[in-house]
This record gives sequence, structure tokens and C-alpha cells, in this order.
Amino acid sequence: MINMKKNNGNGNDKNNNDKSFISETKSQPLDKSYRNPKYVKDEEEIIKTIFESIPKESQITTARFEGPNIALYTKNPRFSLTELTYYLSSLSKNLKKRFVVKSDQSIRLKEDETRSIVSRILPKDVVVSALFCDDATGEVVLEVNKPEAVISETIISIAEATGWIAHLRRSPHIPSLSIKNIHTILKSSSKERSNFLRELGKRVFREPLIMKEDETQKGNISERTLLNNKQNKTWNNKEVYIFCLGGVKQVGRSCFIVVTSESKIMLDCGINPGENNSIDAYPRIDWFDFKLDELDAIIISHAHIDHQGFLPTLFKYGYDGPVYCTEPTLPLMNLLQLDSIKISQNNGVYCPYEIRDINEIIKHCITLPYGKPTDISPDITITLNNAGHIMGSATVHLNISGAHNILYSGDYKYAKTQLLDSAVSNYPRVETLITESTYGASSDLMPDQRVVYNSFTENINKTLTNGGKVLIPVPAVGRAQEIMLVLDKEMKEGRLIEAPIYIEGMISEASAIHMSYAHYLGQDVRRSVSQGINPFQSEYFTVVNGWGKRDEVLKDPNPAIIMATSGMLEGGPSVEYFKEIVTQENNKIIFVSYQINGTLGRRVLDGNTNEVSMMEKNGKVKVIPLKCKTQKIDGFSGHSDFNQILNFVSRIKPKRVLVNHGERTKSENTASTIYNKLGIRSSVPDIREILKLR
Ligand SMILES: [Zn+2]
Repeated sequence: MINMKKNNGNGNDKNNNDKSFISETKSQPLDKSYRNPKYVKDEEEIIKTIFESIPKESQITTARFEGPNIALYTKNPRFSLTELTYYLSSLSKNLKKRFVVKSDQSIRLKEDETRSIVSRILPKDVVVSALFCDDATGEVVLEVNKPEAVISETIISIAEATGWIAHLRRSPHIPSLSIKNIHTILKSSSKERSNFLRELGKRVFREPLIMKEDETQKGNISERTLLNNKQNKTWNNKEVYIFCLGGVKQVGRSCFIVVTSESKIMLDCGINPGENNSIDAYPRIDWFDFKLDELDAIIISHAHIDHQGFLPTLFKYGYDGPVYCTEPTLPLMNLLQLDSIKISQNNGVYCPYEIRDINEIIKHCITLPYGKPTDISPDITITLNNAGHIMGSATVHLNISGAHNILYSGDYKYAKTQLLDSAVSNYPRVETLITESTYGASSDLMPDQRVVYNSFTENINKTLTNGGKVLIPVPAVGRAQEIMLVLDKEMKEGRLIEAPIYIEGMISEASAIHMSYAHYLGQDVRRSVSQGINPFQSEYFTVVNGWGKRDEVLKDPNPAIIMATSGMLEGGPSVEYFKEIVTQENNKIIFVSYQINGTLGRRVLDGNTNEVSMMEKNGKVKVIPLKCKTQKIDGFSGHSDFNQILNFVSRIKPKRVLVNHGERTKSENTASTIYNKLGIRSSVPDIREILKLR
């Protein structure tokens, strides 16, 4: 099943036959046999136990495995959302399963009726801006101006009166198109998703394929082992392997597969935006005899494209399993995926997927809140926790049969920022930690926040005083919102000279998503949001929409600050501003995010060139002189600096560390320092390396 081909170790095995491995993967026959395991853990018996243990008043009509939970359908939501929960919590402990209460189909009202009843039940000062009834989950999603004003008794009354269990979100200051689009897809696919959740439930709770040792000795192994005739009979059920497909000795295309005797779980699935050749740009799924159909799940740590940009391609080529991520990651990821298509079209570059592939992700996505352990396969339970990197970013904890625990850090910030709290680091047990090392050189130390802000404002002030414009290229998700908060605060408190702040690109849409999921933001922002303050709106901000307005901004002789996407000058309005801004000596470009090798941002920042060639709208190449000043301010990064990485590792106290997501020398420095200073076995894997963790 898995070809344990020996790693050649160099990670550079270039294959110039671009895109070849994608079509190879597609041509592999999809083996669905394992998808219908005969031995689903005796569902009937479990359901019988449930019905015997719960009171009749709950009026549960159906109980069945659905996705990672056991779903109970009730005709008495009041009882089921209150008294039944006591019974369920002890059942949950005994059965080691999680429950989700849904309303029985027969009691659910139509959306229109639900809308009018909901507005009657909600407190007078709570206004509904959007409402969406999801047949697959039995939930009515309510976007309201004051979610904190809706108490649980109100939720119960809504369920009783409408047959829908309310799920609250905050109304954003401007309607989010991504969230609206997601609702449309979900609505049109409710039947399909119900079936998907049902099938997934059977798969997650299937009987283990490999017998436990004591059972093996009883001599009843043969039949069950044969369930999967490809499964190696000699496989030791304690073994855990990790396959490195990307994001090692580099920043970009993060991707691992964790393989146990029971499961194959993909951790992240990114692209490398600095590479054009697919062999270097995408995870190396071509490398071993790997079938998409054998994956039990894909977990996405956060929305940045170097962690999820290859996901639509996997759906295009046959993946149809679950994708787990946090609630805000889904719309943020959707926004960035749709934008990648747009950027490819604008630049005349090949994009390996289409909108329909992105829509498939929405249908297969299971969003999880922070801190909720969730079974995703017979032997793996995952828990997502705040990683402090961007909104919804998560560290992924995998508990494998209670015997081995992996913590995959994704990208993380082990310090508080304006926008987010510090990454969670209290884990009772972690055997293997996979840590990022973006800032893994010993000299990668970020100054105090105040020092960073002072240098940021001083630099901007200098340019504004000289009558120049400051261009801040920002990634739409995360850094943009952080910088907005900082600029507003510094201007309000008088340290930054007052000037218009123009904002263009997907920043407004991303900020709307941030407002919808404000409960995922840091404590300070959450507090001000609950007091009715919108941190992403300010008297200084002007949103720029379209070419005409952009030209006005550029032609205006007055000093100004411009924030535009993308953050690495790889497409988007920041490139259009860049073309004009660089030609004037009194202007300045300030980079506030990591610049991946190969991007225009990195080339400009490295200062290796005093001119750049750029394609004009008419297809002609224009050489533009680089006259303005450029600067990088590191302290805004959503990544941990060197000391923060070491602090995080020493707090986690793993037995072993794998260092990824860093340029080779930085990762190696991180690994050797962890070993020398903390005495923890530590290494930097190669691409196409298989590590045995246990
Ligand atoms: Zn990231």
C-alpha cells in the first residue's frame, strides 16, 4: 500500500516535466473497497445502549453516527437541550463518543416562518442581519448585532418554536461575500452533505483494521485483517510514521501525512507561491504509491496559501473526504482560493483548479471550535487550539490510540499581538512536536512591541513629512488587520502624523470575516467589540474600490499611507501601487510580513536590483527604476521569533522535535539549539523523507 521508497535526501530532484505528477495521480484507479468496512463498530448495539439510557421525554427519533459525532434527532428540543445533556455527558464518557443534538426534520419550520418567529423571540435590541437554515445540521445560523445579548434560554425558545437550533455569529460591518457564498453552497448541497456526514460517521467509527495484540493471540485475526487485503499483516499497531511532502527546509507548500496502522491523515496542503514549476511549487504527492482515496482526513492549520493552496487541486483529482479546520479558517481560506484563481487569470498564469473544486471543499469541511477533542479515525483524536498567528490559526494535537501524541504547530506566535492572544502551550503530553522555524536564526529576535511601533511610526512620519507616500503591502488576512489596529491607535494617540490611510484589495472582506468571528480574536479586541466598537473602522480609513479611485490616490500630491494586498507583491493592487510608488525618491515601501524567496517583494527587499521589469496591461514589458526607499519591519510578524520558538518548545517538553517551515539554515539552527540548550532530540527532515515516530 505504501511504498517505503528510501529517501534520496537531497530534496531537489527536479523534474522538468511540469504538472506531470498531477495527471499521474489522476490516472490512478480509485480503490473504494476500504470505504465500506464491514465491521463498523457495532452501531446498532451502541444506539440500543443510548436509547436504553435516555429518558423518553427527550423524544429522540433517530440516533446515528454522523461525521465525528453521534447525532440524536429530537422532537423535544427543550428537554434535549437541557435535561438530556446530563445523561449525554455520562454516556459520552462511557462510550467515548461525542453527541450532537439535532432537531427532527418533521418539526423544522420553513425559513420565512423561522425568520419572523426568531425576530419576535430575540430581545428588542438584537437585530438579525442574515439568517440561514442548514438542513444538514439542523442549525439556523443567525448573524446578529449583539450575540452576547442572546442567552441560552432564548436559544431554547427558538428551537422549541421553530425546530431549528440557533448558531450565532456577529453581523459584520459590511456584508461578507465569502460567508454569503458559503451559505449558498451549503444550502444547495444539504442532502449531499447529510449523506457525506453519515458515510463519514461509519468510517470514523469503523472497527480497527489491525487487531490489538491480545486479540491477535486469541487467534481470531484472519477474517478482520483480510478486510483490507492491502494492509500489511505484520504491521505493528503501535507504529507511527510521518511522510514529509513539503514545507521542510523551506517556507512554502507545507504538507505532512501521518500514517498509523489504521489511518492516514494529511496535515496542511499548501503551495509555494515563490515557485512556478509544479514539482517545486506543490506537495510531493507523486512520490510514493499514494492514493487520495486512502486519506482519512485533511487538517488545515490556517488559511494562508502555503498551508492550504493545494487543497482545491486534491478535490479536483479525486479527494472526497473530510477537511477539518476552525470556523473562521473556512471563509478566509475560501477568500484566498478564489483570489488565487483571479490573480492567475489576470496574470495569464495556469491555475490547477476551478471554482467548483473550491465549492467541494465547502461541502466537505467540518469546522471545529478550539479545544474540542474530536475523533477523526478509529485511532486518532485531534484537538485544535489557538496558534496566535492569524485569526482561526490552530496548532493541531493528534492523540494516536492514547499511546503517541503529536503536536503540529502550523505557524504560531508565542506572544500576544494587537489582534490575538498568544499560542496555547499547556498540553499534558506531547511525544513529537513539529515546530515551524520561519525566524529560526539565533539573530531572528524581535524587539519589544513598543520599540517596533516607534520605529514604524518614525519611519512613516519621516516619509509623510517629506511629502511622500508610504506603501505597505500586506497579506489580506492577519497582518492587514493587525496593521490597521496599530495605525489607528498610533494616529489617535498622536504619535503618528495624521494622514489618510487608503485600503485596497481583499482587506475589507477579510476584516468583515474577522468581525463575524470576533470571538476568535484576542481578549482585548473581543472586549472592545462587545462594547460596540468596531476595530476595523476608523475615521482615518478610506476604502479604495477600483482603478479610477486608485489613480486619484496616486495623483493626489498630498502625503498618504496606502495599505494594499498582496503582501509579497505577487499580484493584486499592491503591485499596481508599487509601479508608481517606486519611481519617486521621497516615497517608501514598508514590508511588514515575511517575504518568501522568489517573490517580487523579496527581490526588492534584498536590494539586489535597481530596476524591475513588469508586464503592462497592454502586454508590453516596462522597466521600472527602483528609486524609493524600502524597509522591512519584523516585529509585526505573526510568527514566533527565535526565543519564542525556544520558549514554546521548552514549555511543551516533547520527547522529540521535528523542525519545519523555515529556510534550511534557520531550521538547522533551531534544531541544533533545541538539542544543545534543551537536551531534546531534534532534527530537520528532508522532503520525501519518512520518519518513524514510534
Ligand atoms: Zn501562515
